[in-house]
Amino acid sequence: VIGEVGWWDELSTFLETRVRPEVERFEKAAEFPAALFRDLCGMGMPAAAISSHPQRVTDYYLSLSLISREWLALAESVHLHVLSMRALTAHGSQELREEMVARMSSGELIGGNCFSEENAGSDLAAIAMSAARTSDGFVLNGRKLWVGHAPIASLLNVYCRTGTPGAAGVSCFLVDASTPGITIEPAVDKMGVKSLPTAHIHFDNVEVGANRMLGRANRGLLIASEVFAHGRLGIAACAVGLAEATVAHAVAYAKSRHQFGNPIIAFQGISFLLADMATQTAAARALVERAVAALQSGRPAPLLTSQAKLFATDTAMRTSTDAVQVLGAYGYTSESPTGRWMREAKLLQIIEGTNQIQRTVIAGYL
Ligand SMILES: Cc1cc2nc3c(=O)[nH]c(=O)nc-3n(C[C@H](O)[C@H](O)[C@H](O)COP(=O)(O)OP(=O)(O)OC[C@H]3O[C@@H](n4cnc5c(N)ncnc54)[C@H](O)[C@@H]3O)c2cc1C
Repeated sequence: VIGEVGWWDELSTFLETRVRPEVERFEKAAEFPAALFRDLCGMGMPAAAISSHPQRVTDYYLSLSLISREWLALAESVHLHVLSMRALTAHGSQELREEMVARMSSGELIGGNCFSEENAGSDLAAIAMSAARTSDGFVLNGRKLWVGHAPIASLLNVYCRTGTPGAAGVSCFLVDASTPGITIEPAVDKMGVKSLPTAHIHFDNVEVGANRMLGRANRGLLIASEVFAHGRLGIAACAVGLAEATVAHAVAYAKSRHQFGNPIIAFQGISFLLADMATQTAAARALVERAVAALQSGRPAPLLTSQAKLFATDTAMRTSTDAVQVLGAYGYTSESPTGRWMREAKLLQIIEGTNQIQRTVIAGYL
């Protein structure tokens, strides 16, 4: 279990023996690896992420990185589940927490996060989906887009308009996915992370009790910003793992592939490419570790978090693209994992705030 002596060996063995042989099969079939997800929950990943013990939280992020070296979609799945728990653990009533948290930690209940809408992508202050007050709760109407886990989720964090236009009129609700009026649309056919199902969700007069509002009315985007602080860090940690996988694979290939009577790593054109990939990846890891340490010290570090997300995901995009180059024709085929890595890295530049949005945040601090 995470946090105990022997954890890194336990996780490495699990990844080598249980995860590695399954990646391509599940990705090709676009099938959610439910048993592996539950295994990681059973190993304490969600419990560590929401723990008040800084070292356990750090171990969670470093574990995400290690899992991503094998399979980004699995790490991302655990992470977005954890993000859905954050709003509940920080802002849910004691009654709700007692009812849900242990069942979410074990993976029995799976969570999803509903921020995005047709006209609210990067700009969440434009959220239009409504939650209208009734005598004993709220009634939700609208459509949410791109919801990770939508087809398999039991609980959804749904951000809805309850007040005036703008950022200060959105509230967050914890909604049972089986509530009448919720329709999950067919899963979106994505470029990568196909094993992590994503779908749009339609809400038609969905009734929720007043106790399902998390935090205060009209303060939902403050919850969202707390969720994003951890979300961005998790994506950055995943990107580091992905970049490390690309470097290791490209270096091994460059040593074994011979042209002109030499291993291709002997050519400066290739070895300098590998040197840059390795250096950028090491720098990304250092930045992510610094951002994790800052977050755990209790001082919010949004500048560092955005810098880590931006740099680590741009690095993963660059190293995965360069890995294809090092492998030549083989790198361009589905026999090699390099194409999958490129498609995965691209996602990381888009989610949890696009990298343009990270630059906007960073520029704001400057
Ligand atoms: C696989 C996948 C899973 C996802 N999972 C979820 C999920 O679980 N829940 C959820 O709610 N959403 C989810 N999303 C949606 C994701 O959060 C959004 O894609 C993201 O926030 C960007 O919004 P958008 O796609 O509407 O892009 P837009 O906001 O329309 O942006 C389009 C382009 O314009 C740029 N841009 C926008 N505004 C600015 C600006 N001010 N300055 C400079 N450039 C700008 C963007 O960077 C981007 O390049 C997911 C998306 C994907 C692809």
